[in-house]
Amino acid sequence: MQRNIQYIKGVGPVKANLIANQLEISTVGELLLYAPFRYVDRSIMNRLSEVDDLSNYYQFTGKIQAVKEFSFGKKKGFQAVFTDGTGMLPLIWYQRTDWLIEKIKIGTPITIFGKLTIQKNQLQLVHPEVIFSTEKVPNTLVGVYSTTERLTKSGLNSAGISKVIKSILNDSSIQYTETLPLYLREKYKLMDNKNALISLHFPQNDRLLNQAIRTLKFEELFYLQLELLLTKQINFHKNKGFIFEKKTDFLTTFYNNYLPFDLTNAQKRVVKEINRDLRTGSQMNRLIQGDVGSGKTLVALLSMLLGFDSGFQTALMAPTEILAQQHFISIQELLKDLPIRIALLTGSLKNAEKLRLIETINAGEVDIVIGTHALIEDRVKFKHLGLVVIDEQHRFGVAQRSKFWKKNSSLPPHILVMTATPIPRTLAMTVYGDLDVSIIDELPPGRKPITTKHFFERNRLQILGFLRSEIEKGRQIYIVYPLIEESSTLDYANLMQGFEYLCNVFPKPEFQISIVHGKLKPDVKDFEMNRFIKGETNIMVATTVIEVGVNVPNASVMVIESAERFGLSQLHQLRGRVGRGGEQSYCLLVTKDKLSSESKKRMSTMVSTNDGFKIAEVDMELRGHGDIMGTQQSGIMNFKIANLMTDGKVLEVARAEVKAILEEDALLNRPDHFVVKNEINRRMKGKSNWAQIS
Ligand code: ADP
Ligand code: MG
Repeated sequence: MQRNIQYIKGVGPVKANLIANQLEISTVGELLLYAPFRYVDRSIMNRLSEVDDLSNYYQFTGKIQAVKEFSFGKKKGFQAVFTDGTGMLPLIWYQRTDWLIEKIKIGTPITIFGKLTIQKNQLQLVHPEVIFSTEKVPNTLVGVYSTTERLTKSGLNSAGISKVIKSILNDSSIQYTETLPLYLREKYKLMDNKNALISLHFPQNDRLLNQAIRTLKFEELFYLQLELLLTKQINFHKNKGFIFEKKTDFLTTFYNNYLPFDLTNAQKRVVKEINRDLRTGSQMNRLIQGDVGSGKTLVALLSMLLGFDSGFQTALMAPTEILAQQHFISIQELLKDLPIRIALLTGSLKNAEKLRLIETINAGEVDIVIGTHALIEDRVKFKHLGLVVIDEQHRFGVAQRSKFWKKNSSLPPHILVMTATPIPRTLAMTVYGDLDVSIIDELPPGRKPITTKHFFERNRLQILGFLRSEIEKGRQIYIVYPLIEESSTLDYANLMQGFEYLCNVFPKPEFQISIVHGKLKPDVKDFEMNRFIKGETNIMVATTVIEVGVNVPNASVMVIESAERFGLSQLHQLRGRVGRGGEQSYCLLVTKDKLSSESKKRMSTMVSTNDGFKIAEVDMELRGHGDIMGTQQSGIMNFKIANLMTDGKVLEVARAEVKAILEEDALLNRPDHFVVKNEINRRMKGKSNWAQIS
């Protein structure tokens, strides 16, 4: 299986190189997992009159009506006109071979198969697969492989790839090894490895094809989960963490006296999960996933109080100054009667001030530090940092997260990351393999679902009338413009035009309008943002800089201009800026008239649901899961056969079996687990020595 494909009959070094370049496949084993993306049923005969899709493969049966040789340049070709009684089709060969001329004559009954093309407004079939009446039509499913133009030019079109795979499967010197224990294969009716691969590429019927696919998916997901769980176990054993022991109990004081509302059940559950983690002696690496407005900040605060009560410093890092400031203000307010020292560390502090603050942090004279990236600067050292909370995780990379690990000379702090990017559970299990995942799947009570409506630009007057009436009720409004690229001057022009237009419609002094975008200086931006937060302005015109985290409960309308230019998850994030108070909130999506079917689907999804997880699923369907923010680097997402969108069930079954195996036989020493041990050793070679778990 590790053999280079150049040694396969009919491949050779040139084609092997091409395949390596174009498909990133170099070994026999890899090519065998290059699955057809669909199958053509060769038992079906089509009619020429029903051809309507050039991406399809067609099969016709009929006879030859005319033949001729032709030349192009110095070479000679051969053409035959085929008919099945419903139409005529030229068949073209660009090499003139004697056997063709010998066998294809006027009146010859023939079956042809292939993909049609158009030349000079006429359909034709170049290099068809030909079956003469004396031969048998392969009465099976034929795999169709995706290929590239360069591969096709070298004879590696779908049929060419199929041929190479066939010669691999016919090569008796290739050894197939079982990777799944026999008892699992029996339990789930899975095929052995060789038969699964044969049926994947050359299925005899639907049933065998499905069984083969099920087998290979199971295998792929089984090893994915095994690798993740083993890695997690290694980390668990490697990274000791602080054990939080209660010395004071300000958490209870706060909970009983200063918490302005009850926790939701989801919040309670997550706090409990965190509390448990902090007492195991291992370092916590936990992700909290909760839709916008689900109250993650409070969970962060309670966790930080756990740290404080155990005598540790804690930190909260936010992706923007505005957000850090908001966290600082609201946490300071909530804790104002408790003897807890809180500080805000951001890049915009004056240098002298910043130095002084860093000194106090390093001396351990501050208990809770809230800040931006400034927190991970090397000179910020802390005295005894017990817990770090990272808000809106998707804005930070893994590298930034790991900088906190070195803040203590003794043990790394516990890490809690929070994200509102909803990722379906199956995906979260794999994307955040190194993190434990907690999900806040409940919104605080009393929230009225946001009403979302889709408008066309020509209905603008209607929208303006609505905005006016909302402002008269005392509400505030966001109007967001797309700014996909920072440098896009056209987008800025639109933003400024929109701003000026609004200033005319809602004139001073009766109305106040703020504007915030990336080209403003940070202090100007903060100033405008704060005017809006304090309720001094009615409308906030902005680019997506306001996308994350900002909390203005009195803002009840979100207008998104050119909404067709935003992705679903971004639209959902933006909508999450409203609906935070007790008032009915609205999200208005404004688009041009003509929309692509994908844009239509995004708009209708937004209008029909507020559920972030549902939206994430549609988003994955539309974009493919590789695109979900931050997952590209993970490398885990390159599945060969499985599809996380649709294979959640298989994933869960595989995961359960892996867990059961590890619980009973952590070192895979049982004879029936030898196949698993061999395979995982091969897969994890050079990654980490999982045997150290013992
Ligand atoms: P997010 O999860 O998007 O970060 P926040 O933490 O900003 O959400 O919380 C959104 C709003 O909900 C805040 O105004 C917060 O005070 C409020 N909130 C949080 N938890 C509760 C609760 N259990 N009951 C009522 N309101 C809550
Ligand atoms: Mg938040």
